[in-house]
Amino acid sequence: MVGKSSTRCDLIMFGALGDLAQRKLFPALYQLERAGLLEPNSRVLALARSDDSTAAIRAQLAESIQSYVKAEDIDEGVLARFLDRVDYLCFDFESEQGYGLLNEWRARGGGELIVYMATPPSLYGVIARNLRDQGCCNADTRIVVEKPIGHDLSSSKVINNQLAEVFNENQLFRIDHYLGKETVQNLIALRFANNLFATQWNQNHISHVEITVAESVGIEGRWGYFDKAGQMRDMIQNHLLQLLCLIAMDPPADLSANSIRDEKVKVLKALRPITSDMIDTHLVRGQYTAGTSNGLPVPGYLQEEGAAKGSSTETFVALKAEIHNWRWAGVPFYIRTGKRLPEKLSQIIIHFKPAPHYIFDPDQKHLANNKLIIRLQPDEGMELQILTKDQGLDKGMRLRQGPLELTFSEAFSTSRIPDAYERLLWEAMKGNQYLFVRRDEVEYAWHWVDQVMSHWQDPAAHPKRYAAGTWGPVASIAMITRDGRSWYEDA
Ligand code: NDP
Repeated sequence: MVGKSSTRCDLIMFGALGDLAQRKLFPALYQLERAGLLEPNSRVLALARSDDSTAAIRAQLAESIQSYVKAEDIDEGVLARFLDRVDYLCFDFESEQGYGLLNEWRARGGGELIVYMATPPSLYGVIARNLRDQGCCNADTRIVVEKPIGHDLSSSKVINNQLAEVFNENQLFRIDHYLGKETVQNLIALRFANNLFATQWNQNHISHVEITVAESVGIEGRWGYFDKAGQMRDMIQNHLLQLLCLIAMDPPADLSANSIRDEKVKVLKALRPITSDMIDTHLVRGQYTAGTSNGLPVPGYLQEEGAAKGSSTETFVALKAEIHNWRWAGVPFYIRTGKRLPEKLSQIIIHFKPAPHYIFDPDQKHLANNKLIIRLQPDEGMELQILTKDQGLDKGMRLRQGPLELTFSEAFSTSRIPDAYERLLWEAMKGNQYLFVRRDEVEYAWHWVDQVMSHWQDPAAHPKRYAAGTWGPVASIAMITRDGRSWYEDA
């Protein structure tokens, strides 16, 4: 899984001039070049439909890389070496013409072929068929595809079937970029390399789990796109359920892709459906109204540029998920994600149960449980909240809660934490699928999400309002308070 040296690759990037490619993928490839991870003869073929020369595209890529990579990480020599690898071709991906050009380009190289589809998912099927029909791929070709795979179970099956007509599952690398984050992988190390946690990781010792993925931004000019999706499809179906799976899964037999993915699927299958009698206690849907962000006034969702009147799309979801198996019976997973929340923050909090018999000052009893805080952003790291005696003669046996703290950027000599896309591209080049999502994971996740969203079909049922800059509708606070608990920042 680690340490395998790079192989010679031909990476073909469909949609090379799109937002994702410019903002994330090319900067990530540049970083791989800088880290010396690209094999000297590896090549990149950028594909788009604007009629430009390779020289013009290289200039555009240089500009994007310079804008999205920190100035101190830009090395002109490395950048020139990277751009030298890049060729450009333009054609309409839906038409068969053009694919012949790929074969000509391939004939001049010869590395392992990786195709990255940074295009709308509606094109995955036609690109796959054209690649097959024009003889551009074989059984060793790897295909990287982006989320979303569909907007519900049936549409995801259509896309997965289109891909499966041409490629085997072991050729498909479905991205969920959260899986490429350093901290997310550290979850696997934390859980399965430390027996201390492995033995405590169940309903005997854990009372509940919180997962928060908060964004302070609003729609950022993508109202039309977002309004068709909403926070449930955009965030919960993929990123948050993947986090939940990694927290909740049983130990895999080994670190192979299928062992890990088999365990994640078991969690998804064990998720209890949220039925109509549970809506009031387990599910909150919100939409932001005007408020403030970083001290400045901001419009509500329905006043954003391009907004359609009366949309009931949710910009916030909080839910209480329950996993029906031996490990997690009776342990709620409180999950929440939203836009225009007070800060950009992703964290997981594992709340351990208190010691069975409490002997300290009664007024400190609320402190009595340990918490493990896993920060995905900002300041990736982990913190274990433990109780110690407060220092000083006058303190007696007063307790103090304090952190055993590990901030990755401080703890490791490498100051830079690689972006998720760097790792994912690197793993795809090596052919490791363990950080990519298997078809059945996508489909079980949709199955559960579709069932939850079925409660929102009634056009009269509007999301609850929350002012921009707050932590979502008060109902999300009530949901957890009803169980005698509170969200971490309210505690
Ligand atoms: P964009 O629309 O910015 O980019 C798509 C690119 O594909 C455009 O450059 C477009 O060209 C090109 N394209 C579309 N149709 C054709 C065609 N028939 N022939 C040739 N070129 C075509 O999308 P994004 O980069 O934002 O997203 C790409 C994928 O990544 C999507 O699946 C998206 O869901 C996913 N994604 C994106 C994220 C992001 O941050 N942007 C985050 C997570 C996932 P043209 O400009 O000429 O239309």
